[in-house]
Amino acid sequence: MNKGGGTVVVIGGGIAGLCSAYYLSKAGWQVTVLDKEDFTDNCSYGNAGMIVPSHFTPMAAPGIIAQGIKWMFDSKSPFYVKPSLSWSLISWGLKFMKHANQKHVDRASPYLRDLNLYSSALYSDLATDLETDIDLHRKGILMLYKTHKTQEEEIELAHTAKQMGLDIDILDAAQVQALEPNVKLDVLGAVHYRCDSHLYPRALMQGLLSKLEKMGVQLIKHAGVTDIEISGEKIKSVLAGGKTYTADKFVMTGGAWLKNLAKKAGLNIPLMPGKGYSFLTNAFEGKVQHPALLLEARVALTPMGGKVRIGGTMELAAINHTINTKRLQGIVESVPKYYTDYTLPVPPANEVWHGFRPCSADGLPYLGQSTKVKNLVVAGGLGMMGLSLGPATGKVVADIVQEQKTAVGIDIYNPERFQ
Ligand SMILES: Cc1cc2nc3c(=O)[nH]c(=O)nc-3n(C[C@H](O)[C@H](O)[C@H](O)COP(=O)(O)OP(=O)(O)OC[C@H]3O[C@@H](n4cnc5c(N)ncnc54)[C@H](O)[C@@H]3O)c2cc1C
Repeated sequence: MNKGGGTVVVIGGGIAGLCSAYYLSKAGWQVTVLDKEDFTDNCSYGNAGMIVPSHFTPMAAPGIIAQGIKWMFDSKSPFYVKPSLSWSLISWGLKFMKHANQKHVDRASPYLRDLNLYSSALYSDLATDLETDIDLHRKGILMLYKTHKTQEEEIELAHTAKQMGLDIDILDAAQVQALEPNVKLDVLGAVHYRCDSHLYPRALMQGLLSKLEKMGVQLIKHAGVTDIEISGEKIKSVLAGGKTYTADKFVMTGGAWLKNLAKKAGLNIPLMPGKGYSFLTNAFEGKVQHPALLLEARVALTPMGGKVRIGGTMELAAINHTINTKRLQGIVESVPKYYTDYTLPVPPANEVWHGFRPCSADGLPYLGQSTKVKNLVVAGGLGMMGLSLGPATGKVVADIVQEQKTAVGIDIYNPERFQ
């Protein structure tokens, strides 16, 4: 049943918000997107641009807690939790620990695989529909490893991936080198997730914004939602930038700010911001062919827009804009351990981008209809794979608003599961 023709307000202009606006507008809805900033930067801009069916394991998985504790004592490590007595962090951490087990992984993996594959397929149509070249490449991603321990773990995961129907290849050092003939690599081997892809996030976001403008979507900047008025189990209006906005339906994204937004609508959505850094470099002079994850270092390296973006770290703490140079140094120093000819300088702070991953308490998105607030759909908690999941998130949101069946299972993503 197509119910297009009503009005929708989408809160947040990251990838989740813009993709929701795109599919809703296509379905005939009159869409307004509100953002507290000006649509030129958020977590969806400076990320590593990877589209990742390979990431079917949720962040809450066995071993993560022990590894995380070890990393806490290394100032250059890729992971850090700021010790704090904040109840938000403690309560999030307890829920996260409860879910870091194999049973949770086994239940969640098919869902994450399907949502990512669906999104990857939607990216093909989106890339054609946008008038901007988003630099989408279907070459897969190399999971590079240097140690026998990581090799063993990664190959075991690769066998699971294969059983789950993903297109992968296990490569030895010579085979990896053959795929990257123009740079010297020092690795034991790699798993090549051919099912993965990559693109240039900034080009995507700018392409989406200009497409939405042409489609007649209202993009309202400096419109941070500060209040939500509920009447009879429905949102009546939201207050943003001093103005009141009414609509038939509301979509709540908001990235790392979702928890506070949700509270205004009476919902409890546990979320922690996971700060990460990235920078672009010309050093590789177009010689790197494939995006890669340097597994031991937890660093991502992606060719994009003629340069290479290098990114990493996950600092779980309240939102703050300080750049931790030690951790940045950790990222930079890891590069020549894999790409031996590239000892890079630590970039100056003004060339370093940072963004906040919206990390849910069980590593799964919050995606679905609110049962408490009848005209609200929530789309957030996309964590480390929001770029990848953007189109699927937007299409699922549009299908829910349209009261249509979604193409993939979403019951596991119930946004009120911690209510
Ligand atoms: C270093 C790094 C590398 C990454 N690499 C990848 C990758 O390779 N692949 C991948 O899939 N993902 C990756 N990610 C994760 C991905 O970037 C995020 O999951 C994704 O961008 C989240 O999108 P979002 O729309 O939920 O949030 P955002 O992009 O943060 O957008 C949220 C928006 O909501 C707005 N907002 C907040 N509060 C309000 C309010 N009260 N009123 C109005 N507006 C509000 C904000 O201003 C913001 O514009 C990476 C992240 C980092 C940090």
